[in-house]
Amino acid sequence: MNVPNEPSFRESVDLMFNRAVALMDLPPGLEEKIRVCNATYTVRFGVRLRGQIQTFTGYRSVHSEHKEPVKGGIRFAMGVNQDEVEALAALMTYKCALVEAPFGGSKGGLRIDPRQYEDHELERITRRFAYELAKRDLIHPSQNVPAPDMGTGEREMAWIADQYARMNTTDINAVACVTGKPLNAGGISGRVEATGRGVQYALREFFRDPRDMEKAGLTGSLDGKRVIVQGLGNVGYHAAKFLSQEDGARITGIIEWDGGLFNENGLDVDAVRAWIGKNGGVTGFPDATYSKDGSVLLEQDCDILIPAALEGVINLTNAAKVKAPLIIEAANGPITAGADDILREKGTVIIPDMYANAGGVTVSYFEWVKNLSHIRFGRMQRRQEESRHQLVVDELQRISDSMGNKYTITESFKQKYLRGADELELVRSGLDDTMRIAYQSMRDVWHERGDVPDLRMAAYLVAIDKVAASYRAKGL
Ligand code: NAD
Repeated sequence: MNVPNEPSFRESVDLMFNRAVALMDLPPGLEEKIRVCNATYTVRFGVRLRGQIQTFTGYRSVHSEHKEPVKGGIRFAMGVNQDEVEALAALMTYKCALVEAPFGGSKGGLRIDPRQYEDHELERITRRFAYELAKRDLIHPSQNVPAPDMGTGEREMAWIADQYARMNTTDINAVACVTGKPLNAGGISGRVEATGRGVQYALREFFRDPRDMEKAGLTGSLDGKRVIVQGLGNVGYHAAKFLSQEDGARITGIIEWDGGLFNENGLDVDAVRAWIGKNGGVTGFPDATYSKDGSVLLEQDCDILIPAALEGVINLTNAAKVKAPLIIEAANGPITAGADDILREKGTVIIPDMYANAGGVTVSYFEWVKNLSHIRFGRMQRRQEESRHQLVVDELQRISDSMGNKYTITESFKQKYLRGADELELVRSGLDDTMRIAYQSMRDVWHERGDVPDLRMAAYLVAIDKVAASYRAKGL
């Protein structure tokens, strides 16, 4: 979404990049090399549907190949254009660097409204798009590995993986050509929830440091915090669900494409999701005040605002009216550069997209590693770990018995301690660690350098520094 009188999404990314490199000491040539998008491939292809040929336009943009494969989602939406995929590809480069996923940045998109097509039609379109990309190595386990994004999910990833495998019948690593696949087609536990889960871990880390809370004028923990979420799709739904069900936050507002729901006492996220599943939108949902223009809820009083739908939704027209002291950008680019300035002036703390939604690519990284190693995480060590824990419990029991049962080991401790970690637990642990470490690297730069105004600038500085180090090491 481009907002009139404001820089485009890509210009915004470049603007932020330029502001960041102004604070760094990079040779100008290297600066330019990191900033530019290496290549964007545009494909137009025809598919025979409903008795006639329909032509589709798609893109795959490769921003930086300082590490390969390059990584980034494929989006199905009518608004897809070259500018947008290039901006998103650049963000992927910085995002991967920030969370130390060893990839360059890429992004793809197909200009299509998936709701207009039957499943079997979408499959043919997706397979054809995948074919066009794969034959140019723009889908490839060691060169370019897509993932889901807006309008795509596990199903599309399974079609893409299968299409690649059909074209590369002897590639033993074919399944690693794309991530975000269903579990039974080479996926990994916890990938679907990963981006929303990452948003939760990011917020938990924010609330661990009093300095960060003070900047936003917040106190305490996530418990009881009023949260408004825009977009109850994959990312928004999981973030809202975990924050409310596990951390005690209250989801007071949910904004969808057809309007917004508000309830000061908190909305039941699963019930809203089920309602959308059945009715196509939030309209008519009981137990909430409905407004046809959902975007007014972006300006509603709350503690945390989570834009998790589209880009450019907080812009020059509404930024001054946004009341949330803390915004976490679960979507890519939801705040325009102009709005960012206004919010910073107001003292709003923004946890930037580059970091906030990195949970998806982090778990994609785990999935890719799993695919290349051809074994699920935990398979070798889980039972061995359990039997070693059993030794400890038995020994404690023996000591307790020898002391006349003066001390008892509780059943709940035994149960928790004895159980070895399965794949889902390992994935969540790896994601939590990644989100914490990446946040801490931004936080250090934010608080310790006097010239870094916000977390977004800190994120750019950390990420660009890592990309630059990679180029330097390669001797470019
Ligand atoms: P999705 O398609 O699952 O969900 C998007 C949701 O937004 C849908 O429920 C849709 O109905 C809603 N929506 C559409 N137009 C809207 C409007 N005008 N107002 C309010 N809601 C609207 O997509 P997603 O995968 O959840 O992605 C959302 C954002 O998160 C995108 O910016 C995407 O790039 C970013 N992201 C996604 C992932 C991932 O793993 N899925 C990873 C990183 C970043």
